Amino acid sequence: MSSLQPIEVPVKIPGISCRVLVGSGLLGRVGQLSAEAGLRGRCAVISDDNVAKLHSAPVLESLRAAGFDPVLLTVPAGEKSKSLSMAENLLERMAEAGLDRGSFVVALGGGVVGDLAGFVAAIYQRGIPFVQIPTTIVAQVDSSVGGKTGVNLRAGKNLVGSFHQPRLVLADIDTLVTLADREYREGFAEVIKHAAIRDTGMLQTIDPSADRSSLTPLIARNIAIKAAIVAEDEKEESGTRALLNFGHTIGHAIENVGGYGELLHGEAISIGLAAALVISQQKYSLSAREADRIRAKLADFGLPLTLPAHLKTNELLVAAAKDKKFSAGQIRFVVVPRLGEAIVADDVTESDLRSAIEAIRA
Ligand code: NAD
Repeated sequence: MSSLQPIEVPVKIPGISCRVLVGSGLLGRVGQLSAEAGLRGRCAVISDDNVAKLHSAPVLESLRAAGFDPVLLTVPAGEKSKSLSMAENLLERMAEAGLDRGSFVVALGGGVVGDLAGFVAAIYQRGIPFVQIPTTIVAQVDSSVGGKTGVNLRAGKNLVGSFHQPRLVLADIDTLVTLADREYREGFAEVIKHAAIRDTGMLQTIDPSADRSSLTPLIARNIAIKAAIVAEDEKEESGTRALLNFGHTIGHAIENVGGYGELLHGEAISIGLAAALVISQQKYSLSAREADRIRAKLADFGLPLTLPAHLKTNELLVAAAKDKKFSAGQIRFVVVPRLGEAIVADDVTESDLRSAIEAIRA
């Protein structure tokens, strides 16, 4: 049964004021909660064409009822919209709509909208506040919290961006009802990743047959894990935040070589997690039993664990070497010697990556 009372997740990033609420019925409270967060003036609600049709009406109504003057700006759904040209297009439309330094942005959608709208908020008139209303599992448990915003270049994903923390995050679980099954399931790759790196106890609460309306505690627990890691290392300086990259070095390489679209992000990350588990087992004594618990949970969500045959090992290694997660030529690879206790290792070699990639071939 869904609880009507939202859960408030504390976010303790030094110098940052960010309120995070998870629960049901939050779309209809955006106006009141934005006012409570000290926001005022005209605002741009940025969304994609799918989400705007489904969920923008209560958001706009609530903002108007609280005395705001919202304008809805939509972009086509999909990763292609996370571009500098789409950011420019939005900035021009914001200027035309009369947004000024006292205005704010509301990002209503999945991670694409959150990253793009957050980036636009970070640079419009040198930065205006923004509110995140994440509507996918990925966006609720991952991208809406932590302040990484940005767009892609032809040379790679997320290569342009800014750290810009949202003033308010409203994860309304009611929005998950309209999410397509495949997009719903892929989001659990990040949830299972959180369990593997920081919270093994959560594994047993991750249930593919759970009713979507019952997810408030699980989403809140995941946001708490992410927020705690970000609070320790907001700008990715000490290495703690890098733990969130578990499974992502090879996952991103798979997306890069396979082309975006063939596999969804969470599906590529699931295969990347399978490879990172192999390295954790072969080199850092993770037990087969613990690795199997993670693999079984990914499989429960129908997520892939093996590499499509057409992806060539050498191409994946070249793509992995270009990943931002490599620092000054050195591989910084996240491993889990014990579940729930991830570390960043600096002695993973190219040959370790090669043998892990071969081990997860179909
Ligand atoms: P997405 O934003 O592309 O959304 C997936 C699809 O679902 C889209 O077609 C969208 O229109 C649709 N959709 C969204 N919410 C819906 C709803 N409630 N009902 C029906 N349809 C809905 O994809 P995503 O997986 O949410 O986000 C992926 C993006 O997030 C990537 O660009 C990735 O780089 C980024 N990301 C960023 C961070 C970060 O820290 N900033 C972290 C993880 C991922």
